[in-house]
Amino acid sequence: MHHATSNARIAQDDAARKARPAMTVAQPPTEITATCPTCGQVSTFTYLGAQAWPERVAAKLNIDPITHSWRCDCCQTTVTDLHKTR
Ligand SMILES: [Zn+2]
Repeated sequence: MHHATSNARIAQDDAARKARPAMTVAQPPTEITATCPTCGQVSTFTYLGAQAWPERVAAKLNIDPITHSWRCDCCQTTVTDLHKTR
């Protein structure tokens, strides 16, 4: 019964993976709908990830220390922090 051990381990990993979404409430959505500043279309934006800036840089650029990047599915342009308007 060598297989029983590995099967049990897989089942455990699967359970851990299923339990994870409840702990990532603060995570931004993977997709949002917004008007694209580049092509002007109401488009779906795919979340690319967060970028951390040194505090001095963030203050100079008047942005948050952590910005989020999104890609317009319409024109493929990468935009940052759509929900904020300068
Ligand atoms: Zn666009």
